[in-house]
Amino acid sequence: MSAPDTAARAAALRELIRDASHRYYVLDDPTVDDAVYDDWVRELEAIEAAHPDLITGDSPTQRVGAQPSERFESHAHLQPMLSLANARGDDELREWNRRIESVLEQDAAAAGVRYVVEPKIDGLAVSLTYEDGVLVTGATRGDGEVGEDVTSNIRTIKAVPLVMRPGATPPPSRVEVRGEVYLPLEAFAQFNEARAAEGQPTFANPRNAAAGSLRQLDPRLTAERPLSAWFYAVGAADGLDIATQHEVLQWLRAAGFPVNPLIEVYDDIEAVAAACEGWEKRRGDIDYDIDGAVVKVDSLDLQRRLGAVARAPRWAIAYKFAPTTATTLLRNIRVNVGRTGAIVPWAELDPVHVGGVTVERATLHNQDDLARKDLRVGDTVIVQRAGDVIPQVVSALTQRRTGEERPFEMPTDCPACGTALVRPDGEVIWRCPNRSCPAQLVESVIHFASRGCMDIEGLGDKTVQKLFDVGLIANVADLYDLTAEQIIPLEGFKDQSAANLIAGIDASRQRPWPRVINALGIRHVGEVTADAIALVAPRLDALLAASADDLARAEGVGPVVAEAVTGFLSSDDNRAMLDRLRAAGLTVEMDVPDGPVDGPLTGCTVVVTGSLDGFTRDEAKRAVIAAGGKSTDSVSKKTTFVVVGADPGSKVQKAEKAGVPIVDEAAFAAILAGARAVPAAEQP
Ligand code: NAD
Repeated sequence: MSAPDTAARAAALRELIRDASHRYYVLDDPTVDDAVYDDWVRELEAIEAAHPDLITGDSPTQRVGAQPSERFESHAHLQPMLSLANARGDDELREWNRRIESVLEQDAAAAGVRYVVEPKIDGLAVSLTYEDGVLVTGATRGDGEVGEDVTSNIRTIKAVPLVMRPGATPPPSRVEVRGEVYLPLEAFAQFNEARAAEGQPTFANPRNAAAGSLRQLDPRLTAERPLSAWFYAVGAADGLDIATQHEVLQWLRAAGFPVNPLIEVYDDIEAVAAACEGWEKRRGDIDYDIDGAVVKVDSLDLQRRLGAVARAPRWAIAYKFAPTTATTLLRNIRVNVGRTGAIVPWAELDPVHVGGVTVERATLHNQDDLARKDLRVGDTVIVQRAGDVIPQVVSALTQRRTGEERPFEMPTDCPACGTALVRPDGEVIWRCPNRSCPAQLVESVIHFASRGCMDIEGLGDKTVQKLFDVGLIANVADLYDLTAEQIIPLEGFKDQSAANLIAGIDASRQRPWPRVINALGIRHVGEVTADAIALVAPRLDALLAASADDLARAEGVGPVVAEAVTGFLSSDDNRAMLDRLRAAGLTVEMDVPDGPVDGPLTGCTVVVTGSLDGFTRDEAKRAVIAAGGKSTDSVSKKTTFVVVGADPGSKVQKAEKAGVPIVDEAAFAAILAGARAVPAAEQP
């Protein structure tokens, strides 16, 4: 490249990086994939290394993150929060090690460098300031010097101690504690589904969801999101005398901060490399997203000697895992008919390797979400896969459009049965209203056989479809009439595999009653709700006889869910199917008394918090129901009393505030036995 071209390229890269950083850090809504962004940064760094005269003071290579948003008060960090240089693979890790060894060459203390290897949590960095052990401010990283003051939001995160645990030594008069706020994967998936169902924009990944949740102007919204945090560093610390990073972590743990248990100390860079590789393989096993491992020199004295370059310390490096985002072609948009008739659009993609697997399809949630993202067939799109979460299309690279791309049009009729689709008022999902729609029936059998339901070994999606296609089954009850002789002739089956499938179906007869309820595929009823319904309807007959009011006694069952259940049970076809399941020998009862019980807790609503000696949480709930009461998880004005065990949560304060009586385990046992009266709330 000629000199003017190089300068122009550097300027263009700066512009691209600045724009992407703003979208990522300030708006929590990235429009390019991380690997593309990282490539731009690397290219700019290489140009600047070769042409130091091209470095500008405001170059993104010299700065951390982005300007804090003006929506928040600003907070000046006492000690800057830096970014991390990154290594892609073992060779770059060894290269980093050689660099630090050469800086420390003359240094006797450098002999035998130790390293701390920590998971790189893909969340949002925060700095919390404690004065005399009490949390006074919480801030985001911002541009590294000045962050956003999000103290009220930080206070809503349960993992954050509001007061440090009293240790052997008094807490420092002032200390900055640093860590990462994140959203667990399961919570992220549920949160996005709920947003999509409400017609709200979904988040691209857990990091953006965590950042968006923490950077809310209303702390009540933050409180509703199940954010958590891991802590891994201290910034400025008055009077804290610690010599190594691993002792920093020990100190944090002792002071009551959650410190990641996976962190290890090594004294050899090859062992560090092996640990990083090991984590990359196991990253799918943990319930939060990690995008790499952070390798830190353990000795704080050596850290000081190594210092920092531009925006990153020399003494640490982020070993980056293969990215979980990738760019690919959106070949087509198709729709699926779910078991409750929901029409869900999905993307057919050019196969692309992302997060360790090849992805060919991704969910598009619903038509509104698709329209909001303005995805068109033929677009180049960013695909994201986080842990085990279903891949999703984050956005289209609109700058790559040629004009040939086609917007998606929702079909007006069900692609499986041709029935006109409907969209109930206030809902974002189109549905096929035909209960006998073959696609819904296939999906309902797939759901019935799945893990959290009847867990039928050998009955995967393809086999279910095959059994339908050849007419061997038309609904779930037909499964129990199948014989090995009928299955052997099917493509892909032999004597043994057919016998195994029959054995799998046979074994499912033993699944407990709550699983059977879950397996029925009633709208709004998942595993947790099925457990709760089983507690109030512990036998099939009780379920068949249950009114909406009876069902509403179950935890988490409101009018909408109760109506979905009674609606399902009012269908003659469904009742006939349930009779056949009973006749086939499925478990249709469990050991809890039926229906409304006249007992010491009749008419009472009870919340249990903390751990009890004589009951598990489930046993306590059952005991409440067996005594005629209703067991719920959250304290409200309707709560009759709260049973408090060891290590209770914030429900105790809530109860005190709402004037709800509190009892201990002994009193609870006495009330259950009818030996003590139910405590009454004091009259205001
Ligand atoms: P970084 O994420 O690479 O590393 C620094 C951050 O790591 C810290 O601030 C902290 O938040 C986090 N971290 C997690 N665990 C840690 C631990 N145990 N110890 C120390 N830090 C830990 O740096 P960055 O400057 O925040 O962001 C750069 C990355 O963000 C890029 O590599 C890119 O992938 C992504 N990014 C993407 C876009 C986009 O448009 N897609 C834009 C900007 C940035």
